[in-house]
Amino acid sequence: MRVALFGGTFDPVHRGHLAVARTAADAFGLSLVYFAPADIPPHKQKRKLTDFQHRYAMLALATAEDKRFVPSLLDSYTGQPNYSIDSVRRQKKTLNKSDKLYFLIGIDAFKDISTWRMPEELLAECDFIIANRPGHSMADVVRSLPKDLRPSETYLRNMKKAQRNGSLVIPGATLHLLTDVHERVSSTQIRAAAAKSAKQLARYVPQLVAEYIRKEGLYRPGARTTEATPAPKVLSFHGDPSGAVKR
Ligand code: ATP
Repeated sequence: MRVALFGGTFDPVHRGHLAVARTAADAFGLSLVYFAPADIPPHKQKRKLTDFQHRYAMLALATAEDKRFVPSLLDSYTGQPNYSIDSVRRQKKTLNKSDKLYFLIGIDAFKDISTWRMPEELLAECDFIIANRPGHSMADVVRSLPKDLRPSETYLRNMKKAQRNGSLVIPGATLHLLTDVHERVSSTQIRAAAAKSAKQLARYVPQLVAEYIRKEGLYRPGARTTEATPAPKVLSFHGDPSGAVKR
């Protein structure tokens, strides 16, 4: 079985995330895509986040639309930043030997990979499916690789060939570029829109998520955020770390 781990802040989940997951699932024959919201995303600590419980609840609503999509508690409360290397290794422990794990990520996030914890080890753990976003290219992917993994000039000259099927296989990393995702939406846009009027939201998020945002008053001035009022961590996970049953 082919499985993808799709980590993120998901504040909130939106149609772009769902399009990425759907396109990847179709293109790579994925049976499951785990959407794992990070309780403490290491790279997004400057901004106050919406409570994990709300972000998870919205994911649960959004993922109901496709049987391959699963909301995951893999990166729920640990008290520590959620480093992808740990998440991937924990997810792998829940899989069978014959299963193949992919790491699903947007190209903007991938561009920071060299600054992540243990990037070479992370890239060696599983294939990456990198969803393109407007204004980026495979060349950006290559340039973002940790220095020791970056291919030589000779290799890059032959890259056109490698690019034809959107994949780059080099010692230490296998990267697949997903170019068929054309949703320009971002969570930042949605938070800004919601602060003005909840009405427009359904353009960017599934209807049920829009309703949830409206009911809970999320993203309105004065809405509760993690840093402002630490929430009781009722969704911490103490059994199988992925929140998944072995299939
Ligand atoms: P923000 O605007 O708050 O930075 P975001 O919309 O980028 O958020 P995240 O939760 O940070 O959402 O994203 C999770 C993952 O999904 C990241 O790897 C990101 O690159 C990817 N992603 C988000 N939106 C899109 C999109 N429209 N197209 C392709 N990839 C996306």
